Amino acid sequence: MNSTTKKTKSQKIFVLGGDGFCGWPTSLHLSNTGCEVVIVDNLSRRNIDNELEASSLTPIYPMSTRIEAWKEKTGRTITFHRIDIAEDYDAFLQLIKDEKPDAMVHFAEQRSAPYSMKSPRHKRYTVDNNINATHNVLCAIVESGLDIHLVHLGTMGVYGYGTAGMKIPEGYLDVEVTTEQGTRIPQEILYPTNPGSVYHMTKSQDQLLFQYYNKNDRLRITDLHQGIVWGTNTAETKLDDRLINRFDYDGDYGTVLNRFLMQAAVDYPITVHGTGGQTRAFIHIQDTVRCIEIALKHSPAPEDKVFIFNQMTETHRIKDLAHLVAELAGGDVAYVDNPRKEAAENELHVTEDLFLSKKLNPITLNNGLLQEVTKVAEKYAGRADKSKIPATSTWTDEQQPGIPKPL
Ligand code: NAD
Repeated sequence: MNSTTKKTKSQKIFVLGGDGFCGWPTSLHLSNTGCEVVIVDNLSRRNIDNELEASSLTPIYPMSTRIEAWKEKTGRTITFHRIDIAEDYDAFLQLIKDEKPDAMVHFAEQRSAPYSMKSPRHKRYTVDNNINATHNVLCAIVESGLDIHLVHLGTMGVYGYGTAGMKIPEGYLDVEVTTEQGTRIPQEILYPTNPGSVYHMTKSQDQLLFQYYNKNDRLRITDLHQGIVWGTNTAETKLDDRLINRFDYDGDYGTVLNRFLMQAAVDYPITVHGTGGQTRAFIHIQDTVRCIEIALKHSPAPEDKVFIFNQMTETHRIKDLAHLVAELAGGDVAYVDNPRKEAAENELHVTEDLFLSKKLNPITLNNGLLQEVTKVAEKYAGRADKSKIPATSTWTDEQQPGIPKPL
């Protein structure tokens, strides 16, 4: 790796999708380290809450209140532009030309796999939004003529979790091809993706867009293949109630561990889909924001290929997690039909060289879990709408939408 090490201090950084679950705490963290942060978001996630008639367990404030509270608490300024980067290319390009950012962190995609499988309309929206958003970002960087480091949030889910026991590498796979003359030549290829939903398919496509723009236009790109994020708050979002981060628990957007924590807090059975034998990678939201800071500091040089790093800190089997939460917070574990088409059981071994080499001292379930249960899930349990907890999106027509049947 020929990365150039830069201080993030005093860098101007666009946070695309900066109103979301990962984007908002990242914006505050980067602002706190001295970066000039510009949030670009079309607030589509808040509109999806309206569509699903679901809302964050934690009361999230309007963007203007969030930004005012941040200024009041820290004296630091974050600016916000409401732009749809998938639809409004010209406004986005103009903003880049006016602001001349050093880097962009790109979170601005529809990120729920169940939402992307709800109906043909949801599939098409996810493809249109995610692929256009990523392509517009790349195209606008080239058209601006500026040297901007792009850090994208990808997902561990592109690997498909079926790696036959092999340790998942960081994005690339060494293979050997045999020429017609019988000579064996080593090659490095993008690790073949195996998406398990329309959402994951868009993230797989993102990888090709990055590879192309890196090869053709020498764009400097870091793609972070992130595990499932858990937790709610970071050092910065805890500074004031108005800065609180969102906590999704509904059947579409609730990520698995947060959903379990909330189910325990409101005395709802902890629902495991299928056998619970699926192994997944996890990272706490506080570590997400630290990893992004590290990635911004280690930007690729123009001659580098796309940097791909796995951003996770531990792996767990879903049924083990459910029983751990039940033990710590009380509650029963209920096994229900799995709405997804996926292997019932899988192992997961992951390479994570960058973040380990930077001595990230991660928050693990063992040292972060109880605090999370008591401080957030229980505090806001009164706001929970239990009717929104079950997963209702299904992966095939044979499965009828509705509350998954107990096994
Ligand atoms: P989120 O839905 O909470 O946030 C995404 C933000 O992007 C929202 O504020 C939304 O309004 C905005 N947005 C979407 N489309 C846009 C567009 N066209 N123009 C402008 N803004 C747009 O999602 P999140 O959980 O913060 O995830 C952010 C990124 O991280 C996603 O790309 C996701 O794939 C990745 N990721 C998340 C997780 C996780 O567990 N949350 C895990 C792995 C990867």
